[in-house]
Amino acid sequence: MKELKYQFPSADCIIYPDALFEQVTTLVAGKLVVITDEHVFAAHRERFEGHTCIVIPAGEQYKNQAAVDRIIQELIAARADRETFIAGVGGGVVTDMAGYAASVYMRGLRFGFVPTSILAMVDASIGGKNGIDVGLYKNMVGIIRQPEFILYDMSLLQTLPDKEWVNGFAEIIKHACIKDAAMFDMLEQHHWQDFKNDTVLLSALIEKNIAVKAGVVLQDEFEKGERKLLNFGHTIGHAIENLYSLPHGHAVSIGMVMASVISEEINGFPSLQRERITALLQRYGLPVTIDTDNEKVMEMLLMDKKRASDRINFILLSEIGKAMIQPIGITQLRDILEASF
Ligand code: NAD
Repeated sequence: MKELKYQFPSADCIIYPDALFEQVTTLVAGKLVVITDEHVFAAHRERFEGHTCIVIPAGEQYKNQAAVDRIIQELIAARADRETFIAGVGGGVVTDMAGYAASVYMRGLRFGFVPTSILAMVDASIGGKNGIDVGLYKNMVGIIRQPEFILYDMSLLQTLPDKEWVNGFAEIIKHACIKDAAMFDMLEQHHWQDFKNDTVLLSALIEKNIAVKAGVVLQDEFEKGERKLLNFGHTIGHAIENLYSLPHGHAVSIGMVMASVISEEINGFPSLQRERITALLQRYGLPVTIDTDNEKVMEMLLMDKKRASDRINFILLSEIGKAMIQPIGITQLRDILEASF
């Protein structure tokens, strides 16, 4: 198994980019409890045989404390103790919740991830942010704690619905926008189906994205500066995601278009590059606009974790591949929203 070892300040994490789910048992010495969701479990039932499994309902609406409480009840029923290892096998909702439940149960069990969606493979499973939503507020409660391993089994993607492939490309395009102009150019030459149909092309893309995400987290695990750049498209994205029940990638896509407009207005981001971003998102089947109630969006933005008194720290672009943090006043933001949405 190929190994990529990341030594984050708080803990090491080993990434196995070309493994098989079954190899998890070679990485875990003690008792293993698998947490997955109903879709992943139904699609790969035979591969879970022989494991103690906690199967949670699928979907963002279950990424909450009530679902964590049920996981904890099931861990107690399974007699999970401090020697138990938790493996979160699923999309970003499963990895966020499994990492969180593992971190609070008995003050913290060891855990690792097997991401099964594109979004979880390139983003959610990497970096140690684990958490849950509170009502409409995204990731309001959580913890930063690294998984011991992230194991990639590309064969699990065979059952991923097409709409989830599209969803995952939002975070890939985000990585290209903030850090990797060459990846942006390459994405412009393809469609998402090219990656679905070519495992070599897909593996190379996923490894590139692991390098971008883990590289940023290596520099700033606890989000004092550099890691904030990963929030490109997420400030407005998070505000509209639960408000309008949008898939995460769709919300981020619309958020990136808005952040590009703001970048052009106040940061001199070239309009041709803004147009390329919108065109790329559309090429990958992602939405670039939505009808919103701006007051409700503002209300959500005021609760954003990136707010500091009367300013919100926005991630803006100066060019494709180069991002920066820029505080924007609430009044200016309200005006931009009114003019653009
Ligand atoms: P998800 O976990 O809801 O998965 C999307 C859908 O695909 C679900 O219905 C799931 O059951 C299904 N699915 C996943 N893998 C499958 C497979 N192999 N076969 C069949 N069905 C499969 O959502 P997601 O898009 O993977 O992740 C979104 C979540 O990730 C959001 O909650 C977001 O906040 C979070 N996230 C976290 C971070 C982080 O750093 N922790 C970063 C980005 C996103």
